Amino acid sequence: MRGKEFKRLKSMLGVVLLATFLVCTMVIPTAVTAERGTVPELSEFTITHEDLSEGDVINYDWYTPNGEELWFWIEDEGGNDYEYKVVSGSSGSFEVKSNGDWYVKWSNPENTNDVELEYDVSVESSQDGDTSDVIGDLIIIVVAICVIGGIGLYYIINDYKKQKELDELKESQQTQPQSQQQPQQYQQTQQQSPTQSQQPPPPPVQGSSTQQTQQQEGKPCPDCDRPMRFVQQYDRWYCDNCEKYQ
Ligand SMILES: [Zn+2]
Repeated sequence: MRGKEFKRLKSMLGVVLLATFLVCTMVIPTAVTAERGTVPELSEFTITHEDLSEGDVINYDWYTPNGEELWFWIEDEGGNDYEYKVVSGSSGSFEVKSNGDWYVKWSNPENTNDVELEYDVSVESSQDGDTSDVIGDLIIIVVAICVIGGIGLYYIINDYKKQKELDELKESQQTQPQSQQQPQQYQQTQQQSPTQSQQPPPPPVQGSSTQQTQQQEGKPCPDCDRPMRFVQQYDRWYCDNCEKYQ
């Protein structure tokens, strides 16, 4: 791989990694899995959210795996209760009424045992935008990755093709002078006039219509005495029986 191409690939990789990182930092906080808690017998379990602003939203989703009922409510600093209910599970959103600390609370006054709880409580800040904005950002990032990746890939492939053509051209230029030594190059270089090299030219192709050699039969072979062919292209006699020039 060439240096320029490698550099481009490296910067592409950097962009993709950065974008992936951004997506992760945005997705992971919103994809928090349920947590577990215990509401002790005749006691309370509290989740505190400090310094919320009016308009922030507390999202809650909880249930008791064993089906016990709990008292559930949301409380402000002044001890005012909201969303109060006695249930074994509940989900919803609550818009905070004032600035300050807010508490999500469960109480266990009716059970004579500790109650297990699975909950997912999160806060959406009114300043940071809501979930739909996050999804919008995600779509923009994903589209950007696709576009950048597509453009990068296009250039890399284009570059690679050009370089390959150039390499092939160079290669064919380099190998042409040595073609006499390489039988596989023979077909391509046939049209070229033979050089004055000491090495015997490759045998003529028999019955080939594209061949430029003209043949005369006559002169007997000094080795086997059979008639040889005169190959005009090389100005020599060729014995098909001995398979060599004489
Ligand atoms: Zn012969």
